[in-house]
Amino acid sequence: MNILKPVLLLWASLLTAIPAHCWGFWAHKTINYYAVFGLPPALVAFYKPQIRYISEHAVDPDMRRYLVASEGAHHYIDIDRYGAPPYDSLPRRWDSALARYGNDTLQAYGIVPWWVPRVQARLTEAFREGDKARILKWSAELGHYIADAHVPLHATRNHNGQLSGQEGIHGLWESRLPELLAADWSLLTGHASYIASPTAFIWDRVVESGRAADTVLRLEAALGKEFKGQKWSWSERKGKLVRQYSEPYARAYHQRLNGMVERRLRQSIHAVASFWYTAWVDAGQPDLGKLQDKPLSPEDEKEFERMQQAWRTGVMKGRAED
Ligand SMILES: [Zn+2]
Repeated sequence: MNILKPVLLLWASLLTAIPAHCWGFWAHKTINYYAVFGLPPALVAFYKPQIRYISEHAVDPDMRRYLVASEGAHHYIDIDRYGAPPYDSLPRRWDSALARYGNDTLQAYGIVPWWVPRVQARLTEAFREGDKARILKWSAELGHYIADAHVPLHATRNHNGQLSGQEGIHGLWESRLPELLAADWSLLTGHASYIASPTAFIWDRVVESGRAADTVLRLEAALGKEFKGQKWSWSERKGKLVRQYSEPYARAYHQRLNGMVERRLRQSIHAVASFWYTAWVDAGQPDLGKLQDKPLSPEDEKEFERMQQAWRTGVMKGRAED
């Protein structure tokens, strides 16, 4: 084994690591799936038969990033570029932020806290119009952006530890760790609540994420020094040797974080259910019973197909690892 090790390392360094996505595809699908169980009966009756769609399409916004360069900015905000917590110099209102920084800067640093209320408005409108396809589409996508806003590494310019020699931490936090440990977590998070101000709510979560980013990075740097040789494990995927964080390392990191990933996953689930519920209430609590049997539009099916094709090419447009 000792003789083989340098050879393995050399070989592996030539191979690509497992790509990371926002929260990981598994976590995004799980968040949307469990959010359905937090809804009141009138909404569960509509969402539950569509739970597969809601869960599968949770990752559409990530797939769109392989198709549309401007999509990336919807998933994050480098909030530390605007100063220190609570980032008071950054206007929460879009038009004020636009006037102060200009569109190019805002787009470059990411716009997730402004994007969530916009998608929320689209969902509310879809409920008002009784448009089943749009309700499902915007529910699934809104779930994605809300979940991203809960990830600390989506709220810092050092989003993949690339500024501190911690490349890969993004995938460790939001993919490796939940995929390894979530079987032991309780993901039923109780009843959805009405959100009086979606804008204030999502900004609070983003500011929390921004505050937590430092902890996420600092604790991993310290742990890496302690683990040294046991930090990585190797496995074969499709004939290629792939490096990933070892299980003991991921477990130790989870403990150091005092369960932060589990907490943020649960908060995401509850927030997604609450945003869906709020959109329905704001639309006047329409009766969704008559929408049950409407088929989805062929255009939506086509858009999904195009996104999947682009995603399969494996070339993300814009910034990766967010
Ligand atoms: Zn994302």
